[in-house]
Amino acid sequence: MTRIAIVGCGIVGATLAYELSRHSQLDIHVIDQGNPAQGSTQAALGVLMGIISHKVKGRNWRLRRDSIERYKTLLPELEASLGRSIPHIQGLISCCFDREQIPRWQSLQAKRASQGYPLEIWSPQQLKDRCPQVNTKAVAAAIYSPQDGQVHPKELTLALVEAAQQRGVTTHWQSPVLGLNKNAGYCSQLQLPEEILDVDWVIISAGLNSADLSQLGAEPLPMIPVLGQAMEIELDQPLDNTSFQPVLNGHDVHLVPLGEKRYWLGATVEFPPGGEAVEFPLGDDLEMVPNLERLEQMRQSAISYCPAVAQARTLRHWSGLRPRPQGQGAPVIKPLAGYENVILATGHYRNGILLAPGTAITVAELLGLTTKADSEDPDA
Ligand SMILES: Cc1cc2nc3c(=O)[nH]c(=O)nc-3n(C[C@H](O)[C@H](O)[C@H](O)COP(=O)(O)OP(=O)(O)OC[C@H]3O[C@@H](n4cnc5c(N)ncnc54)[C@H](O)[C@@H]3O)c2cc1C
Repeated sequence: MTRIAIVGCGIVGATLAYELSRHSQLDIHVIDQGNPAQGSTQAALGVLMGIISHKVKGRNWRLRRDSIERYKTLLPELEASLGRSIPHIQGLISCCFDREQIPRWQSLQAKRASQGYPLEIWSPQQLKDRCPQVNTKAVAAAIYSPQDGQVHPKELTLALVEAAQQRGVTTHWQSPVLGLNKNAGYCSQLQLPEEILDVDWVIISAGLNSADLSQLGAEPLPMIPVLGQAMEIELDQPLDNTSFQPVLNGHDVHLVPLGEKRYWLGATVEFPPGGEAVEFPLGDDLEMVPNLERLEQMRQSAISYCPAVAQARTLRHWSGLRPRPQGQGAPVIKPLAGYENVILATGHYRNGILLAPGTAITVAELLGLTTKADSEDPDA
């Protein structure tokens, strides 16, 4: 058996654990310093913007395409094996307020059609017909992506963990990885508080803290924590057209229907002072206090395209820190320099829920379990 230790159990670690667990030759251990589905994952809205993204080729498109494709089978697979549903939404509408952007959307629509994915571009009137709750006065067009949507991040992560456990994955909670024992570029053991774990491979999916662990390599990975605030609201009655409730997006603010008149609104994008990477572990002096003015600005943006939000009660609001790699694109999925058996799968910034399945495919390739050709396409 080959033993693989996955460090961190947010959406990325949980997806890796579940996806790799179908390889029966692997002995998989997932380790988290706390409990699963904390970190950035507990704050996420779970919006999946893959087809509607403007990434059309290369790694960024491949990760999105692989993820959206895998989500089509992953959710029913988990629901069948656990006997419960995982809340998710099919379909996403993005409002375009700038007429000059329409040609860009038309060109994306043509590209996606050639790749086999539908995108519809609606006039303001077509949007009004399908989503009467939207104030279309300032809208130039709406882009409807039937294959994007949303999934509940925490419920999905917990479902992945449970299904992975059923397939024999060992979990270690409340167990921070304190260090890697290295011998000539090979990590042979992980130091946990109460044991030393022998390993053949280590995957670091520790979110922001991956920066801390990466310092054990020859090329540390600085990370910028980017704060996001979001809120849950409740209306007196559901927004119009209850038979069609996709995720709505306008001015980079998502309105996610949860059912029973409740919606999530989010999220702000707030950089630390100076926009710099910060020292790890995160010190108490890190000024990342959620700014309520920014939260209110976000609510006002939502009201501008969906006026009913003004009447909503706020049930709760929360914040989280997104892991944004500094000096390289998100996410970082590659070997940790200086080690032949340690892989970084981290730094997913704003798209960790979207990109987790594609990340697992890439990691399986790095582990030599599958070949790149299995997921290749001519555009990539
Ligand atoms: C407000 C907000 C909204 C968002 N909305 C979306 C969205 O709509 N769609 C989307 O795709 N993404 C969204 N994101 C981004 C998404 O949440 C992240 O990209 C994703 O959760 C990152 O997952 P992760 O598993 O890499 O990290 P995390 O979820 O942060 O998990 C890392 C885990 O590692 C553990 N850990 C850390 N150090 C150690 C150690 N030394 N030993 C053991 N364990 C350790 C932590 O305890 C934690 O559980 C949003 C983020 C925020 C903040």
